[in-house]
Parts: sequence; C-alpha cells; structure tokens
Amino acid sequence: MAEKIYSIKIKEAFNEKCGCPVCTLRNLLEKDEIQRILGAAMMEPDIRKETNKKGFCKNHLEKLATGGNKLPLALMLSTHLEELDKKLFKGGSKKAAGAYGDARKSCYLCSRVAGFMNSVADNICYLYSAEEDFRTLFARQEYFCKTHSAKLLEMAEKTLGKKDRIAFADTLTAVNKKYIDTLKEDLDWFCKKFDYRYEKEDWKNAKDSIERTVKYLS
Ligand SMILES: [Zn+2]
Ligand SMILES: [Zn+2]
Repeated sequence: MAEKIYSIKIKEAFNEKCGCPVCTLRNLLEKDEIQRILGAAMMEPDIRKETNKKGFCKNHLEKLATGGNKLPLALMLSTHLEELDKKLFKGGSKKAAGAYGDARKSCYLCSRVAGFMNSVADNICYLYSAEEDFRTLFARQEYFCKTHSAKLLEMAEKTLGKKDRIAFADTLTAVNKKYIDTLKEDLDWFCKKFDYRYEKEDWKNAKDSIERTVKYLS
C-alpha cells in the first residue's frame, strides 16, 4: 500500500501535540519540497517541465524568493517566463484571457502539496483503522484545523468501513469540540477581566485567548 510511506512522519507530527498535526506535517512537506526544487531537482527535466508549465502562486513565489538559492530560482523562473510567453502572446484576446486565467490559478507547489495531503489523509485513516495506539494518539490531539477536519472526514467517508468511519468522525468531533469549548471559556474570562468586579482576579489562561482563537479560525 503506497500510502503507508507517510506513517513515520504522521506519527512524529501527531506526537508533537502542538496545534493541528496535519498542518505541522503539511508545513514540513512543503518546506522539503521547496528545498528540493531549489536544489538538485531543479535540473531534472521532468520537474523542470512541470514548473515551466505550472509556475507558482503568490504565496509560493514569496517562499521561493526567500529560500536562499537565487540561481536555481532565476533559471526556473526564466524558463517559466519563456513558456508563458508562448501561451499568452499567440492567438487572439479571448485565448489570451483564458491563458492569463489559467496562469493565475496554476502553481507547481500547490499541486504537489495537495497530492501529498491526499496521501497523508489516506494514510491517517489507514493508521486509525489498523493501529490501536494511533487511535489513542489521534484522540489526544489539541485540535484539527477546519481545512484538515474537512479533508480527513471526506477521506474517512471514502476509505473506511462503517464502524471505523463513525468512530473516526466522533473522535475528531470530540477533539475539536473540547478545543472550541476551552477557547470559548478563555474568551469569556478575557471579557470578564474588563469588568471592575473581576479586575483583581487571576487571568488564568485568558491572556492569549484572542491569538489562539485567531490561529484556530485562520
Ligand atoms: Zn490543519
Ligand atoms: Zn502555490
């Protein structure tokens, strides 16, 4: 089963217990991929063909530009511009509008990361169904962000049997519900602290409640 290749990395990310574990893993895989294409992979014809064709989104261009390796990036961008040149300036305005639209939406790194995340979600569902220890680890997470909650539930729907699917969704819901309840409680206390009657009381965990809520919701 090809999806098992992420098992070790998944368990490492889940053991960190710091925010959404899938975000932790996603950021790591994205960073590795950026390093890879700014390194030796840049000279591989197959990869170069893809980066020429797809280009990069704003977010990833910014990450590449601060990635340190300027020469590989310059070479990659130069041949991408060559390819854009062919697409954008041949044919009428209607064709050009379509080509501009396509170029705006297309990003080599976004599609690579989306591919990784598909396999990661599949692998997480597999581990959940196969390993008791992983089920325990899964239930002990701080939370799953909105994007990855949706991704995991969709994948569970597609790949797990009824019993596992229900348990998976129930656990994910319980993890997120607990976190939202904590955030709500901390925010309520934060608000109360502005009332003179609570002025002298301890802040408890409320001080960074806005930052934590913003992070969760973003
Ligand atoms: Zn996430
Ligand atoms: Zn991108």
